[in-house]
Amino acid sequence: MRASQYFISTLKEAPNEAELPSHKLMLRAGMIKRIASGIYTWMPLGLRVLRKVEAVVRSEMEAAGSVELFMPAVQPAELWQESGRWEKYETGLMLRIKDRHDRDFCFGPTHEEIITDIARKEINSYKQLPKNFFQIQTKFRDETRPRFGVMRAREFIMKDAYSFHADFDSLVDTYGRMYQAYSNVFSRLGLKYRAVAADTGAIGGTGSHEFQVLADSGEDLIAYCPDSDFAANIELAEAVAPAGGRPASAEPLARVATPKVKTIDELVAFLSVDIRRTVKAVVVESEDGAPVLMLVRGDHTLNEVKAEKVAGIKTPLTFASPDAIRAAFGAGPGSLGPVGFSGRVIADRTVAAMADMITGGNEDEVHLTGVNFGRDCPEPEVADIRNIVAGDPSPCGKGQLAICRGIEVGHIFQLRTRYAEPMGCTFLNREGKQQTMEMGCYGIGVSRVVAAAIEQNYDERGIIFTDAMAPFTVVIVPMGYGRSDTVRAAADDLYRQFSEAGVDVLLDDRDERPGVLLADSELIGIPHRVVIGDRGLKEGQVEYQGRRDSEASPVPLAGVVAHIR
Ligand code: ATP
Ligand code: MG
Ligand code: MG
Ligand code: MG
Repeated sequence: MRASQYFISTLKEAPNEAELPSHKLMLRAGMIKRIASGIYTWMPLGLRVLRKVEAVVRSEMEAAGSVELFMPAVQPAELWQESGRWEKYETGLMLRIKDRHDRDFCFGPTHEEIITDIARKEINSYKQLPKNFFQIQTKFRDETRPRFGVMRAREFIMKDAYSFHADFDSLVDTYGRMYQAYSNVFSRLGLKYRAVAADTGAIGGTGSHEFQVLADSGEDLIAYCPDSDFAANIELAEAVAPAGGRPASAEPLARVATPKVKTIDELVAFLSVDIRRTVKAVVVESEDGAPVLMLVRGDHTLNEVKAEKVAGIKTPLTFASPDAIRAAFGAGPGSLGPVGFSGRVIADRTVAAMADMITGGNEDEVHLTGVNFGRDCPEPEVADIRNIVAGDPSPCGKGQLAICRGIEVGHIFQLRTRYAEPMGCTFLNREGKQQTMEMGCYGIGVSRVVAAAIEQNYDERGIIFTDAMAPFTVVIVPMGYGRSDTVRAAADDLYRQFSEAGVDVLLDDRDERPGVLLADSELIGIPHRVVIGDRGLKEGQVEYQGRRDSEASPVPLAGVVAHIR
């Protein structure tokens, strides 16, 4: 590619909106442009990187026996009604659409329903199983707080795969292959990552892992044991942590506080900001019938289990919509009286910190029900009323837990019959009987991977791409392409050699000052740079500099292609 014909549009300063280094650098490098909140155009340079990630993902998926297809982005409501998710899918996350006939559709946040519909129609016999399908496609999730550019976007690109099986053993086998394929993908992309056990929410069982790129800016907390391979998303670690660590909290069920926020609307507004996206507000009823605002981590069933086992709360938990909060605490914009919180019992620092933000720490320690473990009710069966901290004993029994942050770039999941059952996805087994298929699903946030990789690899000069992800593997920077015939001839010839060798090469023949060309090549993260100037050419030499090298070194012009390949 010749830069003069290409489109490079870099910025000296990052726009104010960007907080994370990856977001700033992607904007400065001109990889992405924001169109609306959480909605981005992938500019030519960014698209090249995205395509490189896709290529690695595609090759590993195919090597693992997955077959590519392409499903529609817009999905009919009927399928979601069959699976029971049309009403339930996380409130607000789904972008719902009506067509001209007033029929309901959504822009797909995920594709379990569509693929299950295909499998039930196309697969009839055990002889066709197992099958694994994947696609690389645009998803839309109307995230409460889109941020960090493409890291948490509303429209984003996911590789999603779905496997179908005659029995659980076959699912476990494919799950293992996917685990390995994901490990290969992230290793080939040069990422420092960790596979961690993840909560399976309503499905149950142990079959779920997230692939987390390790970065301090990550939104997820990971508990891991340096002395074994135990690693889990902290939500899950809290559930499996052994008894006999620190004692269960004897804190009261709820505190009563006069909130810092004074009106119900203020409270609703505060909660909807979703300060920490892992915290949700739930309204439950205490034993005396008074509403209690409970702040819980995440959206997982685990919290319902906790609520019931720990607090004896019978009311089924519904995640509080603004209307539910208003209904529970009084109508309209009236002033908010004292509110009960459960931040202490659901012993979690994030939750407790959020409660403090709402109350300003201004709370009266009142036992709304006076529940005390062991005295008023049996000790909870799940040893999960814990606030895991570094140094706690690891569930593996081998050492102490350490805690780090991660960016979830992949998630694999044994769905079992969660979709196949309600949607009647069956096959004829060896005995000629109808049997429900076992199913797995496997996602990679392809567009998020680009941001996550940059989050791990940059310096004060810009992005540092690995060869596998770089928009161009090598850039030729001629010193005076328009001025010197010798330089131009050598640059053109080298460009031809790289192209013929199949190396992705950028010839920066733009009519710009050398300083601009050099700075741009560093900002956009090209891993290898060859600078060609009159002086070096006299000795048959060019300057080579790897993106991580502190300085350039002379290399014979004749050997430079071999040097980089
Ligand atoms: P998160 O916990 O970050 O919200 P998720 O658990 O909701 O992600 P999954 O449903 O597991 O996401 O989707 C598979 C993958 O898609 C995730 O592992 C992640 O890499 C990616 N992904 C999910 N939501 C987004 C988003 N809003 N923007 C970019 N990538 C996303
Ligand atoms: Mg999510
Ligand atoms: Mg997640
Ligand atoms: Mg996930």
